[in-house]
Amino acid sequence: MPLETVDALVVRVSDWSETSRIVTLFTRQHGKMRALAKGGRRLRSPFESSLDLLNHDRMVLIRKLTGGLHLLTESSQVGRFSFLKRDLEALNGAYLVAELLGDWVEENDPHPALFDAAVTCLQDLDGGAWQPKDRLVVFELKLLLELGYRPELSGCVGCGKRAERGVAAFAFASGGLVCRECRRSQRGWRELQESCWKLAGALVADLEAGRDGSGELGSVEEATRREVRRWLGEYLSWIRGRRPRLLGWQEG
Ligand SMILES: [Zn+2]
Repeated sequence: MPLETVDALVVRVSDWSETSRIVTLFTRQHGKMRALAKGGRRLRSPFESSLDLLNHDRMVLIRKLTGGLHLLTESSQVGRFSFLKRDLEALNGAYLVAELLGDWVEENDPHPALFDAAVTCLQDLDGGAWQPKDRLVVFELKLLLELGYRPELSGCVGCGKRAERGVAAFAFASGGLVCRECRRSQRGWRELQESCWKLAGALVADLEAGRDGSGELGSVEEATRREVRRWLGEYLSWIRGRRPRLLGWQEG
């Protein structure tokens, strides 16, 4: 069986036996992978502290091509995020990153740009320069873009009419704004203030241009940013069919 080296973020850890652990990884090379770390619970384990949640590791594993758990043979830390483990807001943000990745990414479905975005997000949370709830908005939009759920915020998804001033409606099933006429045929939608759909649209444009959204968020008042967080939380929950556990924190 082939030995493989992967770049990985640890997004879930569970105990398997007295001495072993199962880790769920989001890898740059293969998307999600679940691996057994034999001896991973021993004090002097071959993996040292690299199996902790949210670590960025380089791991060597025996990759099972027929399904089942891969077998971890070696791992070493690449990035250590030490600040965010001491700051509750940053830590909540990081847990939400782990939850979303563990929940949304599939096995054998690599998304290297999303992997890089997750590492950058954790670094930013660790650096303390961003408001963690806002930083998660940027990450969640990136997740949506990478996984094919780009929200359309410039015009009506039904007829193409450009969004006008004022309150607009966002239709969850269609993933975009709908005008008054097209709204009638939609099941689930919610209203968005002009400041909100404009900010969300600007953030999407920023990410698509390879920027990080900080310029857009810097000049906007908290009420608008909160409305964007709530809309985004509803959209994520709608697509996935359940609410991420840590959404309550982000929406506050
Ligand atoms: Zn329309």
